[in-house]
Amino acid sequence: MKAVKYILVSIFSCIMLIGCGGKEEKKRDNFSYEKKPATLEKTEDNLNDVVLTSNDLMQFNKKEIKVKAGKKVKITLKHIGKLDKKVMGHNFVLLKQGVSISAFGNKAATSAATEYIPTDSQDDIIAHTKLIGAGETTSVEFDAPAPGTYDFLCSFPGHYAMMKGKFIVE
Ligand code: ZN
Repeated sequence: MKAVKYILVSIFSCIMLIGCGGKEEKKRDNFSYEKKPATLEKTEDNLNDVVLTSNDLMQFNKKEIKVKAGKKVKITLKHIGKLDKKVMGHNFVLLKQGVSISAFGNKAATSAATEYIPTDSQDDIIAHTKLIGAGETTSVEFDAPAPGTYDFLCSFPGHYAMMKGKFIVE
């Protein structure tokens, strides 16, 4: 009796499975014809969120930053070293195309009063953070510039030789 019951249950289960399988396929077919409505992008998707760290060895952790055009860019700069900003200060400066890193860096080196951002450099810079020392974090937000390749650097005296990289807008 038990065996018969088992077989019956098995057959029943098989029928159920086939039935369900068929239904599911139908559902899937219907679904594929449905056009998904275009959903609005979330705010976070409109932001290129970039975290850049810097250390006591005059290094950024990135030599290349890639962002999407037409979106905002947020650069968060962290100083993970132990040295004060007077001796190992770091910032992030994004230069306009055609501005030479060394020419800008040399000019910036004489601008201690304005934390190495020359007061007359509006035509050279797209965006920059403030200067930070050990343990500090700062950030800057700006609209991604036109697609292309740009240079970024730390403008603390002597740092641009090592602390520089490419900022690529795609
Ligand atoms: Zn630096």
